[in-house]
Amino acid sequence: MKLNSTSALLCAALLAVFAFDVYADFDKPVIKEWTVREKNDKGEEEDVPYMSIDGILVHETDPAIVPQPPVITPGAEPGAPPSDAVVLFNGKDTEGWLAEDGSATKWVVKDGTLQPVKDSGMIKTEREFGSCQMHIEWAAPANVEGEGQGRGNSGVFLMGKYEVQVLDCFNNTTYPDGQAGALYGRAIPQVNACRKPGEWQTYDIVFHRPVFDDKGAVVKRATFTVFHNGVLIQDHVELSGGTLWKSKHAMTDYEAHGDKGPIMLQDHGNPVRFRNIWVREIRD
Ligand code: MG
Repeated sequence: MKLNSTSALLCAALLAVFAFDVYADFDKPVIKEWTVREKNDKGEEEDVPYMSIDGILVHETDPAIVPQPPVITPGAEPGAPPSDAVVLFNGKDTEGWLAEDGSATKWVVKDGTLQPVKDSGMIKTEREFGSCQMHIEWAAPANVEGEGQGRGNSGVFLMGKYEVQVLDCFNNTTYPDGQAGALYGRAIPQVNACRKPGEWQTYDIVFHRPVFDDKGAVVKRATFTVFHNGVLIQDHVELSGGTLWKSKHAMTDYEAHGDKGPIMLQDHGNPVRFRNIWVREIRD
């Protein structure tokens, strides 16, 4: 195909816009460099390089310009909530949790663990969260029943929408994008780090919420980093869309929503138990 000069110009302009869009995020920090003539330890003058990132001098020490990060106390044991965490489950009652429709939840607390009962439905936090770091521990039933998606199925839903799959995947095969630690239907975990059914397992999740424009289009996708039993299984994965079931081989797309939403746990008909659930709000 032969391009005339007008279409060639148009193509070049479109390419330029495209390139700008693609690299806009990457180029965001404004880095400036300059030199200052200073005396060194020997009293000799020399050019010393200086650099600022987004207007802040590298190694700035003035707290009015760069405040010190807040001091927090980490949890005493690995996995215990640090001092700035919001503890979502105290091991005693379901305070702060509701049924999906906002009524009282039917989930129960037994031996310090939170678990669904028959037909109790999803459970959600009263408080809502956007971008966050989350810790949760879960155990699939020791009494193994069912197979595939029917064995120890539950899920951790960030903003009530984006599911990190909970499933007993110890000697239990299912579709990879639906196994334990999958971003359901969207992203396969790098490894299967499942412990035996009945044993306690941990998820540590770093979630960045999606951002929508005023027309409802997603302009920044959600991202997930997930550790399963301390093992990295999702490495800053950008979620390509929603994680809700649309049909047997299709997932829902993004649908615009607010900046915060509840954390939900799934009742998939299997008595999966939960404990030690906490969240830290983080910057978008
Ligand atoms: Mg599930």
